[in-house]
Amino acid sequence: MNIEKLESWFLNHKRDLNFRGQTNPYFVWISEIMLQQTQAETVEPYFEKFIHKYPTIEDLATANLDELKKIVEGIGYYRRFKLMQEAAMIIMQDYQGQFPTTYEDLIKLPGIGKYTVGAIMSIAYNKPYSALDGNVIRVLSRYLGDFGDMRKDKEKKKLDQYNQQMIEKANPRIYTEAMIELGALICRPKQPKCEICPLNAHCYAYQNDQIDNLPFLSKLKKQKEIHYTVFILEDEKNYYLRKRQESLLEGMYEWPQFESESYLASLDQLSESGIEGDILSFLGQYKHIFSHQIWVMDAYLVKKIHGESTHYIKIKKEHLEKYPMAVAHRKIKIA
Ligand code: SF4
Repeated sequence: MNIEKLESWFLNHKRDLNFRGQTNPYFVWISEIMLQQTQAETVEPYFEKFIHKYPTIEDLATANLDELKKIVEGIGYYRRFKLMQEAAMIIMQDYQGQFPTTYEDLIKLPGIGKYTVGAIMSIAYNKPYSALDGNVIRVLSRYLGDFGDMRKDKEKKKLDQYNQQMIEKANPRIYTEAMIELGALICRPKQPKCEICPLNAHCYAYQNDQIDNLPFLSKLKKQKEIHYTVFILEDEKNYYLRKRQESLLEGMYEWPQFESESYLASLDQLSESGIEGDILSFLGQYKHIFSHQIWVMDAYLVKKIHGESTHYIKIKKEHLEKYPMAVAHRKIKIA
């Protein structure tokens, strides 16, 4: 691979993103965690808010978890932020608040996998450790003409080894960012801009007209569709919310919801939990797509609430915005 050409392309064409150019490992860590499953442009405002509210590891370690989740509301995959806080606590306790500097120490922290360690080691510390994410897998499988199934770890490992060899010959900080940026801007999933790609001279996929066949990914199972009845429980001054305990969206607040297409059956379940109410109006059907399931939600406004339940918390209406709520429920229009 012509590393010089790749690095020079990056230095001339990189996007001016607010988390770029950071060498503070704490900031690199935050941005890399946010960039998992999320586009760079979406990450920017979240990154800004996050480092403003939690400028140090200590601030993150001692943060109120609800406030932390509120800061990242809308970005998805909230468990990663709970794990970040656990890691920050460990850094405070075992490393006296100093961000670990070795691969071995970083990989032990919760929520930090091989990719994130590679990114922190190379971007923050300029050390040659491969950081292989989806973008880099796409670039390398096309460049090398590797038709292995990239859902399989053993296939990804081969690319990781190649990436490691390359970064050892490169400026690690620039190389890692250049590969990720090349995947995001040039070697895109659809219609890559091969004519202006710095790797095109020796790219297998480009030279052999195989771009649409690489990377090869075996088919995933179809997402499961789940039907919910969602109740916006409202009395004169309050709403009722539930704090999720499930691993999906754990710790986020939601409207009471029941896995059923029948609102009558759902009203029965609500009543079993100790709350009674009258349905006032149908607020519409909403859909939210997660990576492995689809929620189809029929939302109803329920008034004349009576009864008590430990399943739900009563919050003042004007405080609704303060509670972290996943987009799936935030999108339900209640007025
Ligand atoms: S030449 Fe095209 S397919 Fe090959 S690495 Fe560049 S953008 Fe990707």
